[in-house]
Formats: sequence, C-alpha cells, structure tokens
Amino acid sequence: MKKIINKVHIIGAGLAGLSTTVNAIKKNIDCEIYESSKIAGGRCRSFFDKKINLEIDNGNHLVFSANKNFLDFCESIGTLKTFKLISTNLIFFDLNSSNKWEISFDKNIFKEIFYKCPIPQTIFFDYLSFFKFLLVKSKTTVHELVGKSKIYKTFWEPFTLAVMNTSPNFASAKVLSNVLKETIFKGKKNCLIYQPLENWEKSLIQPALKFIKKHNVQINYNETLKKVFIDQGKIKKLVFTTKEVEINSDDRVIFAIPPSNINKLFPDYSLPCDYNTILNIHYKVSSINQKLFKNEISGFINTVSQWIFVKKDCISVTVSDANKFNTINSNDITEIVWEEICAFIGKKIPYLSSQVIKEKKATYIQSPKNNSLVQKFNNMKKNNIFAGDWTQNNLPCTIEASILSGKKAIELL
Ligand SMILES: Cc1cc2nc3c(=O)[nH]c(=O)nc-3n(C[C@H](O)[C@H](O)[C@H](O)COP(=O)(O)OP(=O)(O)OC[C@H]3O[C@@H](n4cnc5c(N)ncnc54)[C@H](O)[C@@H]3O)c2cc1C
Repeated sequence: MKKIINKVHIIGAGLAGLSTTVNAIKKNIDCEIYESSKIAGGRCRSFFDKKINLEIDNGNHLVFSANKNFLDFCESIGTLKTFKLISTNLIFFDLNSSNKWEISFDKNIFKEIFYKCPIPQTIFFDYLSFFKFLLVKSKTTVHELVGKSKIYKTFWEPFTLAVMNTSPNFASAKVLSNVLKETIFKGKKNCLIYQPLENWEKSLIQPALKFIKKHNVQINYNETLKKVFIDQGKIKKLVFTTKEVEINSDDRVIFAIPPSNINKLFPDYSLPCDYNTILNIHYKVSSINQKLFKNEISGFINTVSQWIFVKKDCISVTVSDANKFNTINSNDITEIVWEEICAFIGKKIPYLSSQVIKEKKATYIQSPKNNSLVQKFNNMKKNNIFAGDWTQNNLPCTIEASILSGKKAIELL
C-alpha cells in the first residue's frame, strides 16, 4: 500500500537539508524548511569578509570525481558547468628536510605509486601498506593498521587528516578504506578534484536555493528548533524561535542538523559529542606573487599548515584536527603559517591582508567508537528521519555524505 505523505518538515538548510528538499521536490512531495541562521549552507558557505576584503569560503572544500551523489545533485540543480576539474597532481613539501615530491592520482596510479615510489627514500615495499586497507576490521584505527609504515608520516597521516579531520590515532580505518576503494583503488577517473570556478556559495548553495524557490518551497530563516513534543513515539509538535508547528499524522519530520544540536533536543540519545576544529587561513596576495604558486593544491609535512590551496583571489591554508589552535591567537597562527608558505616557494613575499576562520565543530571525531554510536542510532524509527553528513557512518563527514543523506531520507519516507 502506498504511504500518504502530507508534508515533510525539514530542519536545517545545510547541504543535507537542501539535498533533502531537492529530492522531495523531484518526488512531488510537499515540504517546508526551517533554518536557525539567516542564511543557508551551514558548514559549506561563502561570504564577503571585510578584513581580507574578499569573498571567501569558510573552508577549502574539495570533492572527488568519485562522489556520484554530489554530481547527481549538481545535475539536478543545473550547476555542473560552474565547477572546474583539476588534476590530483599534488606537490608535497617537508619543511624539516626541504624535500619536495609529487604524487599523481590522476594518471596510472599503480605506476605512479608502486613503480615511481614518489616519496624520497622509499622503495616499492613501503607502498604495500595500501593493500592493508582491502581487509579492515571495524574497530581498527588508521594508526593501528599502518602506523609502522615508512610512508605513515608522509602519506597516511596527511591523507587521513584531509579526508576525515581526525588524527590517524583515532580515525576509523574502515571509513578510510571505503574512501580508498572508491577513489585511488578505482583509478584515475575517480580521483579528479572538483572545485568551484568562484566559490561554493555560487556553485552549490545559491543554485540549490534557486531550484527550491522555483518550486515554491518556503524556507523559514532565523527559526531555531527549540523543542520537540512527542506522544506515543511520534513527533506531535515543533517549537521554533517564533512559531509552533503541529505535526499531523501524515506529516514527517527530517532533522538535517549536526549531532550536537540533535542532543540539545533529545538529551537521552547517545551520539558522538567530541568534535574537531578545522582551521583556515586565507591570504590575499598580489597577482604577481600569486603566480609563484604553480600547483593548485599542495601538502605540507612537519608544519602547522597541512594543505595549501591556490584560489582565484587568494592563497588558502587548511589545518585539520586543529582543536589545539582554538586558544592560540589568530595573528600568531597567521605569521607562523605564512613563514611556512614562504619557505615552500623559496622566497620571502608579503601578503596584502588575511583572515583566520576557526570552524570549531567542523566534524565529529570519526573514530571506530563514534562510528558505532552513529550506526546504532540510525536504526531508530518514528515519524522522523535523521539526515546530515554524520548519519552516513560508512563515509567521512563530507559534502558527498550530506547530499547522500538527504537523498536517502526521502527514499525512507
Ligand atoms: C572548514 C571545513 C572544511 C571542510 N572541507 C570539506 C571538504 O574538503 N570536502 C568535503 O566533502 N567536505 C568538507 N567539509 C564538510 C562539509 O562541509 C560538511 O560535511 C557539510 O557541509 C555538512 O552539511 P550538513 O547539512 O550535514 O550539516 P550543516 O552544514 O551543519 O547544516 C546544518 C544546518 O542546520 C542548521 N541548524 C542546526 N541546528 C538547528 C536547529 N535546532 N533548528 C534549525 N536549524 C538548525 C544550521 O544552522 C545549519 O545551517 C568541511 C567542513 C568544514 C567546516
């Protein structure tokens, strides 16, 4: 028998909420969104920043060509042409040794890795640690699996931090293995990188909002869900900042909000409660100096900086697993990181302006223990469904996971 759905109430207008809405629209399901802030996009947003005098992304988001749900979503909202595909031709720089090397994932990967052995002082044997990810137990951490490998510090640690925003000492090897199996192990066509031509707001958030507006779905901004009334296991009423919404028997509620906010509404739920910061430092430089940066993405070893991105108008640095920097003065971080960048290009150059963004709850710590909490939680059923990057416990907390969660939430109705 076909279920009758009157209306879906979607809490949160981050990517998971937007994906939920787009998928609901595609199935002709009536829906309405409630968002606590005055803008959509959540952890993936761009804004004009007065200090640096530029429009910047809150973070350096990177999406792989393997991310099919991201690509489908872009197709639905007609925005694929606003992205560029860049090669995964990564330069690594070790500040201690001043060594530089290049790893390409968009050529013949086995030749690039096992034949070329790109990391200095390594041999074929050191790369066999890749194969350890083919069979992984769910309780194993990345460090337990490959901590003794010679390429741990120069490859597994930066790769884990970039993909999972979690130190390899805690990161689930199973989740990293799933990423490897979809990207590097599948070959070059899955390893290209999508970057917006301008920024994520223009390529993803605004086009999604345009699609949603075109289909007359209402978004209620500045409406934080404060309280949920439940009767006999079913949600009956939602209380927001300025309004209350009765939930009829044919209505459904989809929570597309992070676990910390779920816990404020449902304090008894056991969900991950430890998070990692991602730190981003954006530097505006003159167009002449911008040309000194040859590769669009470079990895740094033995530095505070982990990845540097050459963007349209700025140089932007990402530091994952960055809780230790929460209490450190932003000016100090800016100077330390800039010195590392100058060492990388081999020339002391000035920057024109800068901005530091600390995303304190960028993702939860993606450990085997937290993963299993999420897995158990996903089994709960009422007239509500949970979406959000964190619900896809087989994947890292990413754009792909949040978009997939919205698609799955509508399929589950
Ligand atoms: C700095 C940084 C760098 C990143 N880099 C990458 C990357 O390179 N590649 C990648 O794929 N991913 C990356 N990510 C992760 C990616 O941004 C997230 O996985 C994704 O944006 C999460 O979307 P979401 O909708 O699940 O959650 P959110 O974006 O957190 O959206 C939740 C929304 O719900 C709203 N909300 C919360 N509580 C309530 C409430 N009670 N009532 C109403 N509304 C509420 C919030 O305001 C928010 O808008 C990065 C994240 C950060 C922070």
